[in-house]
Amino acid sequence: MTQSPGQGNALDNLLTESRTFPPSDEFAAQANAQPALYEEAKADREAFWAKQAERLHWETKWDQVLDWSGAPFAKWFVGGKLNVAYNCVDRHVESGHGDQVAIHWEGEPGDSRAITYAELQREVSKAANALTSLGIGAEDRVAIYMPMVPEAIFAMLACARVGALHNVVFGGFSAEALRTRIQDSACRLVITTDGQYRRGTPAPLKPAVDEAVADAPSVEKVIVVKRTDTEVAWTDKDVWWHELVDSQSDQHTPEAFDSEHPLFILYTSGTTGKPKGILHTSGGYLTQASYTHQNVFDLKPDTDVYWCTADIGWVTGHSYIVYGPLSNRVTQVVYEGTPNTPHEGRHWEIVQKYGVSIYYTAPTLIRTFMKWGADIPAKYDLSSLRVLGSVGEPINPEAWIWYRENVGGGKTPIVDTWWQTETGAIMISPLPGVISTKPGSAQRPLPGIGAKVVNDEGVEVPAGGGGYLVLDEPWPSMLRGIWGDEERYRDTYWSRFKDQGFYFAGDGAKYDADGDIWLLGRVDDVMNVSGHRISTTEVESALVSHPTVAEAAVVGASDDTTGQGIVAFVILRGGAGADAGGADAIKALRDHVAKEIGPIAKPRQIMVVPELPKTRSGKIMRRLLRDVAENRAVGDVTTLADSSVMDLISAGLQSGK
Ligand code: ATP
Ligand code: MG
Repeated sequence: MTQSPGQGNALDNLLTESRTFPPSDEFAAQANAQPALYEEAKADREAFWAKQAERLHWETKWDQVLDWSGAPFAKWFVGGKLNVAYNCVDRHVESGHGDQVAIHWEGEPGDSRAITYAELQREVSKAANALTSLGIGAEDRVAIYMPMVPEAIFAMLACARVGALHNVVFGGFSAEALRTRIQDSACRLVITTDGQYRRGTPAPLKPAVDEAVADAPSVEKVIVVKRTDTEVAWTDKDVWWHELVDSQSDQHTPEAFDSEHPLFILYTSGTTGKPKGILHTSGGYLTQASYTHQNVFDLKPDTDVYWCTADIGWVTGHSYIVYGPLSNRVTQVVYEGTPNTPHEGRHWEIVQKYGVSIYYTAPTLIRTFMKWGADIPAKYDLSSLRVLGSVGEPINPEAWIWYRENVGGGKTPIVDTWWQTETGAIMISPLPGVISTKPGSAQRPLPGIGAKVVNDEGVEVPAGGGGYLVLDEPWPSMLRGIWGDEERYRDTYWSRFKDQGFYFAGDGAKYDADGDIWLLGRVDDVMNVSGHRISTTEVESALVSHPTVAEAAVVGASDDTTGQGIVAFVILRGGAGADAGGADAIKALRDHVAKEIGPIAKPRQIMVVPELPKTRSGKIMRRLLRDVAENRAVGDVTTLADSSVMDLISAGLQSGK
């Protein structure tokens, strides 16, 4: 089929980036992942996953690897029984690693705590006994609304231990967001703190719970951890963690649950619209979280110090702070605070303090570090780092290079990991030591995973072509539905390519000449300029490749002549110079984009802004910028990290006119 603009192909293929970084021989020789893994998975996918499931302790072994007869509802390791918390805690104590530090916890004000596996076992057991004492057991829902304190992790594991589902709600969300999430899944219990540290000052947290619970009759009890010593109002539902949990026995016998027993509900971050309660179950989820964590990050439990900077309110915190790492007997850093409290070198200070060897973060933070300047990481000893990871958004090639040079000492592999709340675990990523990495590309599906780029008709596009990312095989950690809404589950993910039976991820993607996958942003954000379908990611990456730009967001705004015109919002790098936002500089930026990817992608308008609207998990919310670009009232901002950002942007634009 020939490609006429705007037809057939979902996306024009514009940005070219050809740098590659082969692994060093030393790294390749010691890597957990070896090239044979791809062959093995290809030869027999189910046998491959069965072998991966063996890394866990099963109380009863499964009798069927996959039952897909009820598609799109999968069952993995059918008939198997296990306890997820036992796999993440007790078995490491039983294998003689009770004294190993599981968590180096670092509080924002500078307090810290090292928690060994033996201590983690005692804490989780006490919390599990506390849940039982409140009558919370299998299938009950528990909302966890907490900052990054150790008790948040104890609480998640205690739920898993007694078979209750946790529903973690980010501690920065409003009372309203908390209430809807509690109501949607009818939680019986809420676990929270009195307050939380935010940029150096204690802020109350419990009032939001009081407000939410007032309208959520399903909630019977609220457990409150004392963190900031903030004065709190007290109701007869409330009970202090230290009074309830600390008095419990630290012995608890975990019960084995069915492989398909529900483990948690997590509402997606809400970048595109109303959050969905994504449901995950036990055996398949833990298998894939564990397998991916060990291979993608090359984790060596005896020597590595791992740090994932996500919050547990996001799926990355579930799979790559709690379940994947702990199932692999990690020693990890958990940090409570923001990256610039009390100074912009806080992360590097922590890397240096604990000798962090694996660091996993989001592109938004990398671009923020770029904005702050390379001189900041340069002040610290970062030589312990040996693997770097990225997740959450496409990472612009320039940010990737900056990360490798300024954080990774020009030597570390970078794994760009594509996945979603829905996929439960990493799906597309290079395997370090096996694959030569490419800045900006997540490259290829992991062994055992099926992913493709297809056109409107569901036909795979050739090398060099762009289209929609689909997953063409069920995978162990796949969602088992949207809580209470089977219809929405079928509609959102399985109706677009119903005939082919593909899972529709909602992201645009392309293949390069080597057949590697590049993620190009959400299909909903694709711009249509004079019949050309242009990806937001490509134009943003072209802007970020200019030395004065740290971060960029582009949107298509309706345009009388071209259908849509490209409007860009940019944040300048630290040290970019006072005239970097002047008319000449803006013209130079527009020309730069034209030169990098072609005149069709030249932004109609570029605006310099101090900040961009982002979700709590750091993703740019382009729909709000589209409202600004089209002079509309700004839409729902409840999932924004900082709702004042939109006012800042609008104010800046008005004064600039
Ligand atoms: P909602 O579904 O409620 O709109 P969300 O999609 O932002 O929210 P998440 O599940 O946290 O919620 O994010 C998954 C999405 O993040 C992916 O669909 C993709 O758009 C983006 N993403 C994650 N990792 C990568 C990556 N490595 N490269 C490109 N995009 C990524
Ligand atoms: Mg999504």
